[in-house]
Amino acid sequence: MKSLLKNNLPVNFCLTDTLKMGSLISLMTIGMVSYGYATEESYLIVNANVYTVDRDLRWAEAVLVEMGKITAVGSEGDLLKQANQKYDVIDLGGRLLMPGFQDPHLHALEAGINETACFLPAEGSANTYREEIGYCLEEQSQSAWFIGAGVSMPALLEVLKSPAAFLDQLIPDRPAVILDNLGHGAWANTQALQAVGYTDLWRDPPGGILDRDPISGRLTGVVFENAQQRLRNAALPPTKENVDFAYNSLLNALEVLAQNGITTVSDAGGYWPRGHQEAWIRAEQENTLTVRASNALYLYPDLPFDEQISQFRNRYMNDPNSLLRFNQAKIYMDGILSQATGALYEPYERGLDLPPELQRGFLYFDQDILVEYVAELERLGFQLHFHATGDRGIGLALDALQYAKKINSQADMRHRITHLYLVDERDIPRFKQLDVITDFQLSPTATDPETKRYLESFVGERAERLMPARKLYDAGVDLVLSSDWDAEELSPLKKIQAVLTQKNGAFDDIETVIEMMTINVARLLHHEDKTGSIEPGKLADFVILDRNIFDMPANQIGNTDVQATLLGGEVIYDPEGLFD
Ligand SMILES: [Zn+2]
Repeated sequence: MKSLLKNNLPVNFCLTDTLKMGSLISLMTIGMVSYGYATEESYLIVNANVYTVDRDLRWAEAVLVEMGKITAVGSEGDLLKQANQKYDVIDLGGRLLMPGFQDPHLHALEAGINETACFLPAEGSANTYREEIGYCLEEQSQSAWFIGAGVSMPALLEVLKSPAAFLDQLIPDRPAVILDNLGHGAWANTQALQAVGYTDLWRDPPGGILDRDPISGRLTGVVFENAQQRLRNAALPPTKENVDFAYNSLLNALEVLAQNGITTVSDAGGYWPRGHQEAWIRAEQENTLTVRASNALYLYPDLPFDEQISQFRNRYMNDPNSLLRFNQAKIYMDGILSQATGALYEPYERGLDLPPELQRGFLYFDQDILVEYVAELERLGFQLHFHATGDRGIGLALDALQYAKKINSQADMRHRITHLYLVDERDIPRFKQLDVITDFQLSPTATDPETKRYLESFVGERAERLMPARKLYDAGVDLVLSSDWDAEELSPLKKIQAVLTQKNGAFDDIETVIEMMTINVARLLHHEDKTGSIEPGKLADFVILDRNIFDMPANQIGNTDVQATLLGGEVIYDPEGLFD
């Protein structure tokens, strides 16, 4: 933290000058050993609009922070009286102070990586792709693989008949892979397909789809779902260079998180064969990690069971006092509705040119293998983090959790299902029965009527009941909101605005929405005794906003400026110099 020594103590500020060195030093030790980033400095924040999220005392004026922890919350007068040491005083000039935002589903490391890959538009003509790839070829002339990102695969297949042949012409001398914009597909040239063993004769790999020409049966070069992971792993093996690259990408992403007032995340990527966990661990060790992270490890449908379980056992990290945990298992049940790969009970109205057995979407795992994984991972202590978009995928995730509950009877695991686009009516009560937490992305794009119309073209009238957040909430289910960055908008403030201004939206009071982005997430991550609200004893994770978002039109909230972010009392973002 920057020096907090200030010369501008108010005249009426008459705390005793006695600095109790003994107790300070012992507290310093505690503060520095645990929680990373817990600063040894103490200060009193005054003249703030403090929104605590604590239902017993929602608003306050002042907060006392000692050794990175909140030790008192209340009125300015009371706290000035209570404080019996000499504290630096930070005057926030009436700004809003809140608990830092918590985002329980995003792809921070990949967001950083995507930013540095050759970036192509989601939808473009053959000419656009040819031109853009041409520019990038120079930049990437030295790398073994050509890597691009950003293209929508369904859109690409409408423009090009043979995407692989198109890439072969542009990049004939080495493997090339272009990742999609949603994390569910990739486009490869022939060398890349061969490098991972994908041939015209080969059947689809477990959990994946190799797109084929419907007449000739030849691979088009587009692959879906888990079939892309092999290409990604081959293009970015965990060499020292690539782990450095992942680490630097993570640092870029961390900066963006701090700028957005986000102090806790759950990274939903977790592609451990590519050195991603190592990059996070390095950030923690080098003291560059500026969020609390409860991250996931990705469960591959195409790896042997025992080998994968042993990887998960070795990689499990769950010290609640550490900034970094790897205590979630990310399990993809199905794909996405907008690619006709989300698993549905009834067929899609329109889809890709997929074989008839995929007319109701796609599953990553055979259910009998999945339930064994779920039970075993739960026994190892992992919280399960299911990706499920279609009603059939969601139903099968609930079935797997029911099975685990029966044979393990572990209490209070707080497993969750994320995305939840179409939920079968009969499954609604099961969430509460099985104590499953629901995780929605009610982002600006997701709540846009355009999105609904687009999805309607895939699922027909079922689009009327997309993302039933309110229904689940009314059924007593715990609910959190996440961003899914960089597939979606990151800004928590834009998200609040999107939820509150949605026509016939699920929630219209800001307090509830903010709970779903703070304390509810803390509870999901077994951290509600340490974060998620501003209460004595909790860690000083704060965001400071330039205006009071509780007292302004909802359609303006997205323009609010994040002016500072603190993690464990330490300033991680402060362009205005409020804490200088
Ligand atoms: Zn995601």
